[in-house]
Amino acid sequence: MAILTINAGSSSVKFTLFPSDADTPRASGIVERIGLEGTRLKARRAGGEAVETPVPGADVDRAVEVILEALGHPQHGVIAGVGEIEAVGHRVVHGGERLTRPVVLDEAAKAYLESIVPLAPLHNPHHLRGIAACERHIPHAVQVAVFDTAFHASLPRHAFLYGIPLRFHAEDGVRRYGFHGISHKYVAGEAARFLGRPPEGLRLVTCHLGNGCSVTAVRDGRSLDTSMGFTPLEGLLMGTRSGDIDPAAVLYLMERHGFSPAAMNDLLNRRSGLLALAGVGSNDVRDILAAARNGSNQAELAVEMFCYRIRKTIGAYAAALGGLDAVVFTAGIGENAPEIRRRALADLGFLGILLNEALNESPAAGPRAVHAASSRVAVLVIPTNEELEIARETRQALAEQRRP
Ligand code: AMP
Repeated sequence: MAILTINAGSSSVKFTLFPSDADTPRASGIVERIGLEGTRLKARRAGGEAVETPVPGADVDRAVEVILEALGHPQHGVIAGVGEIEAVGHRVVHGGERLTRPVVLDEAAKAYLESIVPLAPLHNPHHLRGIAACERHIPHAVQVAVFDTAFHASLPRHAFLYGIPLRFHAEDGVRRYGFHGISHKYVAGEAARFLGRPPEGLRLVTCHLGNGCSVTAVRDGRSLDTSMGFTPLEGLLMGTRSGDIDPAAVLYLMERHGFSPAAMNDLLNRRSGLLALAGVGSNDVRDILAAARNGSNQAELAVEMFCYRIRKTIGAYAAALGGLDAVVFTAGIGENAPEIRRRALADLGFLGILLNEALNESPAAGPRAVHAASSRVAVLVIPTNEELEIARETRQALAEQRRP
């Protein structure tokens, strides 16, 4: 039997098929460019080559259908039929305040997800479409939702509330939710395993640095604080997002330039961050580091701003945790950019964080330690694997449902 993970976004549906009882995927892929020219399926069997198939005009429903056709293909497929899929684990960005662990999707859970669409208008509607498509094409399978916000449900009130009247939390749900939880939870678990320690008693700062960036303070395997807030805009500088900015500056710019809320939202989420600051017409850290090395002062400043915010957040979370056992780097930048890791940790020797330059620069893959032998705090690079985390949590939800 198998577990299928589905991540339905605005223009793509990503999938991975796992055996029900093992962590090694049997196949994975994506239907991309949905709603655009050139919609196509890219699929790969474990150990095989990627195969590309055009699927012109496919919407999310058709995307799920072609994924299932590919998985069950008589020559290239990996299952005899959809009957083998016993559960589907859906990545859902926002679970609101009520869905704080993986849930088997019944009518009540889906109605709640509909009701919180205003909290995640760019994500949850696509996830709901993915769920509906899977219910239609794999009706016998148990549909499970795994939330990006759920890991941060353990934030204490003093960490998740904003300093505005409490009624805006009670009536409007305005609070810090935090995101990237599936990734932070996965790497925190893998870090404990790598260090050979139980999560209990372990104080970690996990840095997810990809297109979006967030830092989480983890104690005893639970999220204690995290840098993203009501939306993924808060906190670190990111590829195209501003991260922290005084809300009064936002109001000032709106008044001065007559920006609408939608225009301001677009500016802060899509036209700010490294893209706006580095001046290289790209938000890819590889391009920005190359420009900085070639003498661009502007790119250099953007890199320093990016690293400085990570550094000061690590310091803040060391205080929140009352000490630190390990700093963990993950995602596209965290896993692949030694210069960013080095600069983010510069001058943190007073916290007991010392890098080993050679280990840090080494292009090794897989979970690894990059700290100096004399470092009190471990520095780990742990490749994230959100699909595996979703599959594991789906497996767990399935087991709980079947328990008498
Ligand atoms: P993710 O969201 O985890 O897929 O991360 C995507 C980001 O990782 C891209 O925007 C790149 O800037 C960054 N990235 C990927 N590879 C490298 C690399 N070798 N060096 C620096 N940044 C990288």
